[in-house]
Amino acid sequence: MTATKSFADDNLSRGEEVSWTRVYPTDLLKEVARRGWFGALIPREYGGIDVGVTGCCIVAEQLSRICIALAGACSVTMYGGAEQLLKFGLEEQKRRWLPRFVNGVVGAICITEPTVGSDAASIDTTAKRSNDEYIIDGKKRFITNAGLADIYLVFARTSDSPRDIARHQHLSAFIIERGAPGFTVERINELGGWVGLPNGFLDFNEVRVLAENRIGAEGDGWKILVDGLNFERTLFSAEKLGPMGEAIRYAVCHAQRRIQFGQPTIESEVTRFKIADMIARFKTARLVIYHAAQLLDLNAEAALETTLAKLHIPDAYDFVMNEASQVMGGDAWTRFYPLNGFLRDARVNHVAAGTDEVMKLVIFKQGMRALAKDLKMPTRRIHERLNAPMSTPTPIIMEMMNEANLLSILADDYRVNPGLHMSREDVKRRFDRIDDETLDNALIGLEQKALVRLHRDRKNVIQLVKATYAGLRKANPQEHYQWFPEWMNKNFIF
Ligand SMILES: Cc1cc2nc3c(=O)[nH]c(=O)nc-3n(C[C@H](O)[C@H](O)[C@H](O)COP(=O)(O)OP(=O)(O)OC[C@H]3O[C@@H](n4cnc5c(N)ncnc54)[C@H](O)[C@@H]3O)c2cc1C
Repeated sequence: MTATKSFADDNLSRGEEVSWTRVYPTDLLKEVARRGWFGALIPREYGGIDVGVTGCCIVAEQLSRICIALAGACSVTMYGGAEQLLKFGLEEQKRRWLPRFVNGVVGAICITEPTVGSDAASIDTTAKRSNDEYIIDGKKRFITNAGLADIYLVFARTSDSPRDIARHQHLSAFIIERGAPGFTVERINELGGWVGLPNGFLDFNEVRVLAENRIGAEGDGWKILVDGLNFERTLFSAEKLGPMGEAIRYAVCHAQRRIQFGQPTIESEVTRFKIADMIARFKTARLVIYHAAQLLDLNAEAALETTLAKLHIPDAYDFVMNEASQVMGGDAWTRFYPLNGFLRDARVNHVAAGTDEVMKLVIFKQGMRALAKDLKMPTRRIHERLNAPMSTPTPIIMEMMNEANLLSILADDYRVNPGLHMSREDVKRRFDRIDDETLDNALIGLEQKALVRLHRDRKNVIQLVKATYAGLRKANPQEHYQWFPEWMNKNFIF
């Protein structure tokens, strides 16, 4: 940490130079490699320094203080080749490529295509087997390190079989090196930010690649791609911490030195609150990111936490940059302070390495799975003494399964959840022992008598059930459902 920090401190001006010249700081990249930081993730046997995901995040955070051109090249090499080789590569593949990464040979990860973005499984680039080779045909776009990288991790379609596609076994991962005949940089994007970091289109025109360049088995591409996303999301997020910290530094120093209305602007409570909010967002973002990194280092389940970090960081970054900019007034809108570049880079955080919406889709899925035990509907009933609906640790359990008992449970539920259906699981929990078939038969019997309404899923499996008005009347007299607060004027009740 200290070494990377002092390296960043010493080279901040070099990063600022890049924002004006746009010339790639190749000498700095070589120096980063010389100090071993390109090998942060890589075990010592391959020449790396093996400091885990947490160590990679520290490197990314500090390099990103200098410039995105440096931090991006290093991080993408880690999550666009090194990590996948470590997890899925054969020993000879690791020996072939990992030491080169350690030496500062830049990598790139190639998933996105002109017509394929968030829906990464729809990759159109094909890899057709021909004896001991694959022939790669297609295009990639938005590829960070395009042209700068020598080693490209390319995902391509190896099967069109509907069965393989349904099982996500239609993709494979390949290492393709710069110089392979038919492999060219098609275009370099003129981005709205990320100054100095090349990003572009790649073209693969009948590129022949040896089968020994395939990482994992044929059809393992999706597994490799998804597995790498946890690391990518964490490292991508860590790479945003550097500019956030620098923005706070510039804002604070500015406010201490800018006198308006006879005093430094930092004396104003409004400015102090802004600074406090910036520090809070920055520190919280660090906690979220380094917690995800620690989980990955412990080999613990971390999909939810890494995705959370990637969703959290763009908003935290926006907040810090906006507030820092406000504290600095007009100065922030000139290119004479680095903040202006950080501001420009904010928007793409919501898109690159997966959009906010995709993160939310993942968090919904992972969160529902992780919290499944805590998200069960509480059984509720009318509290006898307080006469109010509330949850109960001791629901009434029916021993016998018959239509009358089933209707009684549904009618009771109407008293405490009048607008909701009961799920099958809710109903099952109210019987001592009950199998699905018996429950379904009873429910269908009640449905045929119009005493319950059933909601089925697309596979026609019963999901939700509710007593109809007729069912409620059949289960209990109307008085059973009546409920009035005690303060109610009795004359108003009929
Ligand atoms: C600067 C930069 C660097 C990048 N670097 C790389 C790289 O190195 N390698 C690489 O392979 N890719 C890279 N990408 C591509 C990046 O991963 C994609 O841009 C990203 O996944 C989104 O794809 P898209 O831009 O095609 O947007 P689209 O997928 O077309 O999405 C457009 C909008 O629709 C929304 N949307 C799409 N589907 C849904 C849905 N089902 N539900 C709700 N909303 C949805 C998205 O969230 C988004 O808001 C980079 C992109 C940028 C901008």
